[in-house]
Amino acid sequence: MNTLGTEIAAIIAHEGPISLERYMTLCLQHPRHGYYMTKDPFGASGDFVTAPEISQMFGEMLGVWIGEAWTAAGRPADARLVELGPGRGVLMSDVLRVARVAPGFLDAISVDLVETSPVLREAQARTLEQAPAPIKWRATFGEIPRAPLFILANEFFDALPARHFVRTEHGPPFRPWRPSDASIARPETGLFPDAMGGWRERLVGTTAGGKLAFGLAAYVESGLPLGAPAGSIIEINVVAQRLMSAIAERIVADGGALLLVDYGYTRTTLGESLQAVARHAYVDPLEAPGEADLTTHVDFAALKRAALAKGAKVQGPVSQGSFLVQLGIERRAETLRRKATARQLEDIDSALARLIGFGEPREHMGELFKAMAVLHPDMPDMPGFES
Ligand code: SAH
Repeated sequence: MNTLGTEIAAIIAHEGPISLERYMTLCLQHPRHGYYMTKDPFGASGDFVTAPEISQMFGEMLGVWIGEAWTAAGRPADARLVELGPGRGVLMSDVLRVARVAPGFLDAISVDLVETSPVLREAQARTLEQAPAPIKWRATFGEIPRAPLFILANEFFDALPARHFVRTEHGPPFRPWRPSDASIARPETGLFPDAMGGWRERLVGTTAGGKLAFGLAAYVESGLPLGAPAGSIIEINVVAQRLMSAIAERIVADGGALLLVDYGYTRTTLGESLQAVARHAYVDPLEAPGEADLTTHVDFAALKRAALAKGAKVQGPVSQGSFLVQLGIERRAETLRRKATARQLEDIDSALARLIGFGEPREHMGELFKAMAVLHPDMPDMPGFES
């Protein structure tokens, strides 16, 4: 087991099995061994490739959209352009380049980058050295001062830690852990006695051999859907829902818009989507903690409910392919093609296919990825969301 694995096993030995939410947080955000804290995971030589890294066209479309949102909001002075999880800063750099097309936008804004990773903060500072607006880094969304906020989040919400619950039959729960671990499933932490069936949280514990393993809490939870068959699993991202509530609250109070792009599903359903990716391949999420990217698919319906509950206006989700085509990515590709070399022509075509393509191959992002906007209730409909 690696260093972080040993540390997590020690936490479990001390406190008992931990939630998936806590496990993901430790794997991604541990100050010394967390996945995002120590390395740059992007690009062909890294673990995965994101849309802004595929082509400048992606960031350009988002830049045009956010400039239009600012214009539609009445061109507020002292607005803030925010990006959640800016990676290497490529998206923001493309956005700022095209944002010039919205007259007055660059003079009205300052930039806030919400980023926890010191390595990626440095990469962002390098990419954005020549940025035409002042930039501040924030560890959390809550640190951003009050102002009309124009927010971009690409592949950010999938990195927030989720919880899993499994529907069990009557009878004792499945427990792979050492008997001593069972002592942490204290009756007072559960809502019902041990012997009942019901929803039990999926936890990370250790096996008799000392390896990390999934198991179920000894106690059951109430408040989850009734009537699901035994063996059903449900994924809930409380952290993502709370963040969306906070964002919608700020947008409703101070004006602005959020554009969220990520992979995910449009209706809340049973099932789970935890995945661990390293060097462009799926790996076991418990095998080498902190060395693989851990994510879950975004439950757009849950985030939409959270935003609507705060009084915000929501458009979408629609597929990324449909969104980018409506914003004119094909015309943009045509313009780029006119000045391209033969080699560049090929790159433009394959990038376009990846960004807007539906179905197979797996590299196609057009259908799996979705776009959703959260707006101040007085904002008009923004482009990109016609079905
Ligand atoms: N948007 C970028 C990067 C996506 S990867 C792109 O499209 O290329 C996720 C990004 O979010 C990384 O920059 C990571 O360091 C950051 N991040 C992940 N979890 C975070 C959290 N809880 N708080 C702040 N930043 C986080």
